[in-house]
Amino acid sequence: MRIFTAALGLEANTFLPLPTAYQAFVEKLYLPPGQQQARPSHQTAACWVAAERAKRDHFDVIAGPCYAAQPGGAATRAAYERMRDDILGELKSALPVDGIVFNLHGAMVAHGYDDCEGDLIEHARALAGERCVIGVELDPHCNLTEKRCRLADVIVLFKEYPHTDFTERGEELVDIVVKTIRGSLKPKMSLYDCRLIASFPTTIGHGFPYGDVPESGARVLVVTDDAKAHGDRLASEIGRELIALRERAAPPFHDVDGAIDAALKEPRGPVVIADTADNAGGGAPSDNTTFVNRLIARGVEGAAVAPIWDPVAVRFAFEAGEGAKLPFRFGGKTAKASGPPVDADAEVLRCVKDAHQTFAGAAVPIGDAAAIRMGGVEAVLISNRAQAMGVDLFSNVGIDPTRRRILVVKSNQHFYAAFSQIASKVLYAEADGPLPRDYRKLPWRRVQRPIWPLDAETHPRLVL
Ligand SMILES: [Zn+2]
Repeated sequence: MRIFTAALGLEANTFLPLPTAYQAFVEKLYLPPGQQQARPSHQTAACWVAAERAKRDHFDVIAGPCYAAQPGGAATRAAYERMRDDILGELKSALPVDGIVFNLHGAMVAHGYDDCEGDLIEHARALAGERCVIGVELDPHCNLTEKRCRLADVIVLFKEYPHTDFTERGEELVDIVVKTIRGSLKPKMSLYDCRLIASFPTTIGHGFPYGDVPESGARVLVVTDDAKAHGDRLASEIGRELIALRERAAPPFHDVDGAIDAALKEPRGPVVIADTADNAGGGAPSDNTTFVNRLIARGVEGAAVAPIWDPVAVRFAFEAGEGAKLPFRFGGKTAKASGPPVDADAEVLRCVKDAHQTFAGAAVPIGDAAAIRMGGVEAVLISNRAQAMGVDLFSNVGIDPTRRRILVVKSNQHFYAAFSQIASKVLYAEADGPLPRDYRKLPWRRVQRPIWPLDAETHPRLVL
């Protein structure tokens, strides 16, 4: 038995003007054919699990290339075609194969391609043949297009959000693929389209709400062992349940000053405030300055904000050196939604080369990083764009997060696994970053209508 593996990941925010080029993938994650990461990660878990299982279970894994970028704007056509053709070229030389395991994100859009995953699977299917078992692991922030669900044999999504279960889901997927090849399973997929755009701080399938493509939105996928009618019933039932919850699934939101007021009323800290509209995990630049500017203007003591993506300011902090006090400008650079830069008298507290934070046991690089202080407010500046995930985002640059009154983190929900352990309270706020929680504020043009909340009346249905 021979199984080919490869990975390709980009969560593409089509509302942002930033193009995601080939270099952005190489900088975040590139593994040439035959290599694997020391530990499984979001981007490679299924490939990693397949290689480990092959050692125990006496089959061959042919590891193709793995690529993943930080969420951003749509990939350039050249970048996508280069990576796709690299993966397909390796698959071609690996043929014949009995199975393919792909670790994909699921919301990848490229210039000229609304459904990169569907396109990749289509090409792989054409090369490997009808009998090849194709299994795919996806992030729940994916667009479950009809095409990919028709062309793959089985798709497994992470079920947790924060996504802490990528390895378990990889094990589930590889197990299904191996058993299907051996003839003891017959996966059948049922897909129900809820016709809604939403994000839930919970453990269900979502869709990616910042991708304006025809099949954007939340869908329910049920995989059964050769029981399609049962799967259809279950997918429709769960879908209808989700639709009934849609109005109250999201947590309440504060505006910036409302969140600071609420945090200051708490008898003890740290109160963690999520600045969700500037979440790099949704493709935002993560250099919006509204929270920092308001905290400084209000003279708040004991507040820290992280991360702010500003490689130039990080360089200035390194050049000034730890302990330096100087007039300093940072943030507010990349987009209109970044707001004005912060101009303040700052002290450089700590500079760390090749810094990282930890998420679900894995080290996530954030590039060179610096901690600075402006009166009672501290900020963590980073040079590799990333969202807040681990509390060591603060402690690795010398800020003890447990001793601060307010921690503002740029993240939608991934911060929650680690920060809820130290928080006296968690609040969600919407500043003026580019990812509003009211999806009606976005300039949708391509998504199939009607869809909630853009339209009041919708027509949910079984797609597959
Ligand atoms: Zn996700």
